[in-house]
Amino acid sequence: MESGTVETSTQANGVANGAGAPATLDVHNPATGALIETIAIDSPTVVAETVARVRANQAEWEAIGLEGRRHWLGKLRDWMLDNAARIGDAMQAETGKVRADATTETIYLTDLINFYGAKAEKFIGDESVRPHSPLLAAKKLTIQYRPYPVVGIISPWNFPLTLALGDAIPALQAGAAVVIKPSEFTPLGLAEVVKAWKEEIGAPDVLDCVQGVGETGGALVDAADFIQFTGSDRTGRKVMARAAETLTPVSLELGGKDPMIVLSDADLDRAANAATYGGMMNSGQICMSVERIYVEEPAYDEFVRKLTKEVSGLRQGADGKTPEKDIGAMTSPNQTAIVEDHVEDALASGAKALTGGKRVEGPGDYFEPTVLVDVDHSMKVMRDETFGPVVGVMKVRDSEEALRFANDTRYGLSGSVFGEKERAEKVARRVECGAVNVNDVLVNYLAMDVPMGGWKESGIGFRHGEYGIKKYCRPESIVATRFGGKREPSWFPYTRSRRGLVGRVAQAFNARDFKRRLGMRG
Ligand code: NAD
Repeated sequence: MESGTVETSTQANGVANGAGAPATLDVHNPATGALIETIAIDSPTVVAETVARVRANQAEWEAIGLEGRRHWLGKLRDWMLDNAARIGDAMQAETGKVRADATTETIYLTDLINFYGAKAEKFIGDESVRPHSPLLAAKKLTIQYRPYPVVGIISPWNFPLTLALGDAIPALQAGAAVVIKPSEFTPLGLAEVVKAWKEEIGAPDVLDCVQGVGETGGALVDAADFIQFTGSDRTGRKVMARAAETLTPVSLELGGKDPMIVLSDADLDRAANAATYGGMMNSGQICMSVERIYVEEPAYDEFVRKLTKEVSGLRQGADGKTPEKDIGAMTSPNQTAIVEDHVEDALASGAKALTGGKRVEGPGDYFEPTVLVDVDHSMKVMRDETFGPVVGVMKVRDSEEALRFANDTRYGLSGSVFGEKERAEKVARRVECGAVNVNDVLVNYLAMDVPMGGWKESGIGFRHGEYGIKKYCRPESIVATRFGGKREPSWFPYTRSRRGLVGRVAQAFNARDFKRRLGMRG
């Protein structure tokens, strides 16, 4: 079997005759091709039972309040800090990432726990609202944010913890129970953390995971009360269609085709270094990777020279326990095939690879860091999500043309603009996407204070900031009577005098001119 691939089989898995044995997943290390472990796929029945079990514990979890939940999430933070190397090992093994990329997940997640721990009261604490009308002056209005009982999270393989626990943390802080279906390519690291939550931390039984492929994800959609999905737009559509059957709300974080605009007054060293990092980090397997670059004519030649030099100097290969390489493996062989197809399509249509351009021979699954020029928007590499270590660079006349190209896409996740500060920010405001970095790349993901999510076919809903926790809650409006007699004037019995009074008072408050306030016609 190819390295990194997932094989679903009906191996005996401990059952003597194999008959009726569960299907299993073989999980490989994509950096070496070695088999790490074979695990059982959970049946739809197990998924439903898992959801039912955590659902039964959710009321108590909600009842311990924000502070109680912050306590347990704080224990998870401490466990992650104490076990950062162990988590890094697990991430490195199942993704084939280099050490530096494998260890970023703990840094992000521990920050996120602290962020929502500190901000939850502000974001989802009770809100007092002043009634808009004097007619409601006797009412005390409060909005209480109640969690969906069980949030189901379906996650991809490129950041197996960040894109699973990163969405679970605000849901748990909000008071929901959570069941995660990780990618079939990277199920092990998450399972280890979930096991630690239960067995090492001893936290309440409100977080679990189920293992499997698309069918398992579908079963989770059927059973959960809210679905947070991160993955391709192709699967996102299926998830949304399935959720429609049970009217289950969804939040979808989907693919991207992020543009970078380089203006002629940019610091070209910084822009080239940023394009290299933004396009190649994690082997370009980031939804917000720089995939397309538009450079104003006067800066084009110098930028391309600097970019090519940087990219061709990257060190690729299987990394050790200390960071020695820059670029790791492709985690999913399906994705390598897509990357290869995009590059071959571009080269066949007249594009040129200034560096890279093909798969790497040998053990493990690698694609060379690649810079393509002479590309245009008829090519897949400039139109569809490549999700690999490849950037296409185009020369443009001016910023208007750059914006036209940048916005010529069905995606709208994020983007970046490099140039003189004020000019770059003006251009950034016109890029059609959920977030734009000015003179930086990818960093908006760490700015969890502000929303992160996709426009157009890059998604529905947002993570981070207030949205990132409020979406897991349903507002419950409490309208409480502060004072009032035995009955309100608007209640039964309807009599001419009581209805007349109600009408006159309403007219006096609703009219916006003096005559009507006095009950006259305007
Ligand atoms: P994918 O869509 O193939 O799979 C994602 C998850 O969905 C996996 O767990 C998979 O098992 C599950 N799944 C598959 N079919 C399903 C079905 N019918 N019902 C329910 N679940 C199903 O995506 P992938 O290849 O794992 O990840 C790469 C994609 O994820 C890229 O498009 C990338 O841009 C996107 N992504 C987006 C973000 C974001 O925040 N917007 C972040 C990371 C990755």
